[in-house]
Amino acid sequence: MSIVVVGSIALDSVKTPYGEKKEALGGSALYFSSAASFFTKVSLVGVIGQDFPRGDIAFLARRGVDLSGLETAKGQTFRWSGSYQGDMNQAQTHDTRLNVFEQFHPKLGPAHRKIPHVFLANIHPSLQREVIAEMGTPKAIGCDTMNFWITSARSELLKTIRLVDIMFLNDAEVRQLSGETNLVRAAAAIRRMGPKVLVIKKGEHGAMLFSKYGVFAIPALPLEKVFDPTGAGDSFAGGFMGYLASQGRISDAILRRAMVYGSVMASFNVEKFSLDRLKTLKKSEITARYKQFKELTRFEA
Ligand code: AMP
Repeated sequence: MSIVVVGSIALDSVKTPYGEKKEALGGSALYFSSAASFFTKVSLVGVIGQDFPRGDIAFLARRGVDLSGLETAKGQTFRWSGSYQGDMNQAQTHDTRLNVFEQFHPKLGPAHRKIPHVFLANIHPSLQREVIAEMGTPKAIGCDTMNFWITSARSELLKTIRLVDIMFLNDAEVRQLSGETNLVRAAAAIRRMGPKVLVIKKGEHGAMLFSKYGVFAIPALPLEKVFDPTGAGDSFAGGFMGYLASQGRISDAILRRAMVYGSVMASFNVEKFSLDRLKTLKKSEITARYKQFKELTRFEA
């Protein structure tokens, strides 16, 4: 089984209490692909500018990621800059430059349209809907978004969410989108908007899953140093959706394991800046950390 992801490909400038990195590889689709490629065949659809250091993503091709949907457009690559303070759970956005994304419309080839799983990483919700319209009848559509779109394109976002099976949001976004402060009530409100499954990411406090099977919650791996939380949400989604695609079906047990793989991938991602940790990661390290999660949550009946 395989998955197609459409999202941003960026040059990020990020400042955290541990340092600063300028114009580093980033963007929702790159984080997602790097994480999901450990579990399933990934096809990446997105746009870069002529200034993008294409050689720096050669590692994705070595991991089997299909880059035939990566378009190079005239102009500059999308840029985002932000910083983190305090508990590092929420990025402060300093600047968003859409650049080549302003004119971008995802182009899916016939092979992309047959792929059974889709992930709509963080981009404008109307572009996300264009992708859904172009796809055949995928088994599962996952979707992420952010406060920027909840504020600036709310009605477009609501139309997209209606068509989605699995929605990924952080706790602040869940409250912002639903207008509810209580997370259980907020989750119910968002599931009424369309998605059958809702994943709420809570940074260092772990993640919650709401589905027809009930509620499941896991902690985040307690880490002494979180170098750079950028992309934690996308690598979580990459682990989750990549594992789900590898199984080809949805059950309570599969969703729970997907939550653990999501948390595992996010925990690696935050250990270094940009994609640096996901670039060098090995499957054996993922397996070892999965076991660490089992131990972290073990208790007697
Ligand atoms: P995350 O930390 O997982 O929520 O996502 C971080 C990534 O989102 C960064 O690498 C940014 O390049 C990307 N990003 C930030 N703002 C936007 C936006 N408005 N649209 C698309 N991608 C964005």
